[in-house]
Amino acid sequence: MKFNRVVIKVGSALVSPDAQGCSGKYILAIARFITQCQQAGKEVILVSSGSVAAGRGLIAHGSPNPSIPTKQAMAAVGQMKMMANWQRFFDVPCSQLLITHGDLKDRQRYISIKNTLRILLANGVIPIVNENDTVATDELKVGDNDNLAALVALVSEADSLFILSDVDGVFEEDPRLNPHAKLIPTIAKIDQSIYAMAGATNNHIATGGMKTKIQAAEKAVENGIETYILNGSRGEVFEKLLHGENPGTHFVAQQGAVRARKHWLKHTLKSNGKVLLDAGAVNALTKKGASLLPSGIIEVHGDFTAGDCIDIYDGKHEQPIAKGISQYNCRDLARIQGTKSDGITALLGCCPSKVAIHRDDMVVLANTKNYSTE
Ligand code: GLU
Repeated sequence: MKFNRVVIKVGSALVSPDAQGCSGKYILAIARFITQCQQAGKEVILVSSGSVAAGRGLIAHGSPNPSIPTKQAMAAVGQMKMMANWQRFFDVPCSQLLITHGDLKDRQRYISIKNTLRILLANGVIPIVNENDTVATDELKVGDNDNLAALVALVSEADSLFILSDVDGVFEEDPRLNPHAKLIPTIAKIDQSIYAMAGATNNHIATGGMKTKIQAAEKAVENGIETYILNGSRGEVFEKLLHGENPGTHFVAQQGAVRARKHWLKHTLKSNGKVLLDAGAVNALTKKGASLLPSGIIEVHGDFTAGDCIDIYDGKHEQPIAKGISQYNCRDLARIQGTKSDGITALLGCCPSKVAIHRDDMVVLANTKNYSTE
C-alpha cells in the first residue's frame, strides 16, 4: 500500500476511552504515526471525534443519553479539551476546522474549505476536523464522523482514508460472539452482504459503529480513495502501515475514479459563464499544466458564483480550450482580471485565492484544435 495524502479518522473510543475527558493512552501512538508520516513527506488531515465525550463530565446531565442541546454544550466545552490534548503530542501547529454538511453542500463554502485545507497542508500544519456540533441540526448534520471523514477525503483530494477505532476491521462474523471469527483483509466491492457482515458492532461511546464506517468506505472508494478500517488502539498497526502492509480491512478504490472526476467536469457540469485569456495564459494552461491566474484573464462573461463551472477561451478562438471551477464569482473575477495575484487584496479587500481556477479543478478539452491536451 502507498499513500501520499491521507485523512485519518479517530473515533471517540480512542480519544476518550472511558468516555470521561480526554486521554493520551491511544492518542500518543497515533500522533507519533502522524509525525512519522509527515517526516516521510506525506500529508495528513485528522478528523477527530471525542468532543462530546471530552466535555461530558463538565456539563450537568441526569441521564446516560443527554438531550441534543446538552450534548451540544458538552461538545463546545469538550472540543477545546480535545484540541489541547492533540496539540500536546505535536511539535508542529494544529488547526481546527468545524464544519457541517450544509457547509459542504454550499459551493462557495466548499471551495473555502478546500482552499483552507490546501494552504494548511502546504504550511505543514495539521488540520483537525470535527462536525460543528453547536449548529448541526438534523438537516445540516453529517451525523457521524465516519461519513464526515469520507467527505473531507473528497474535498481534500486525499488518496487514502484510514478509519481508526477499537476494532480490527470487518469480520466474517461478530468477533464478540465468535472469538475465532476471521478478519476480512480486502474488500473489492461493497454490497449488502458486506453491510450484513459488519453487523452491529456499536460500542457505548462511538456514534456510528461499523455501518457508518462501511458507508464512509463506499463513498470514498467510489471516488478513487483507498480506504482502511484499522484498530488504532494497537501500536503494531502503525508499524505495519509504515512498512506498507495492510493491518486491517482494505476497501479497494474503484479504478478510473479520478479520471471520472475530470469526465464529470468535462461532460456533466454545466458552465455558467466564460473567461477569455491572453496568449501567455493560454500557453501556461495548455503547455505547462498551470493553474489559471487572474492576470491572464482579459474578459469575464456570464452570471456565476464561486464554485461554479466556467468555460475558458483563448481570446482569439471560438471554441473553449478548457473548463474549470471558478474560485471567484463573476463580479469579483471581473474586478481582478488582468491583475497580478499580489494585487488582489488591494482590489477586493481580501484574497481568498491567488488563482482564478486551480489546476486540480480544471480539464483541458481534448478536441481543442492547435493545443496540446491532457
Ligand atoms: N462530533 C462528535 C464528537 O466529536 C462525534 C461524532 C462521531 O463520533 O461520529 O463528539
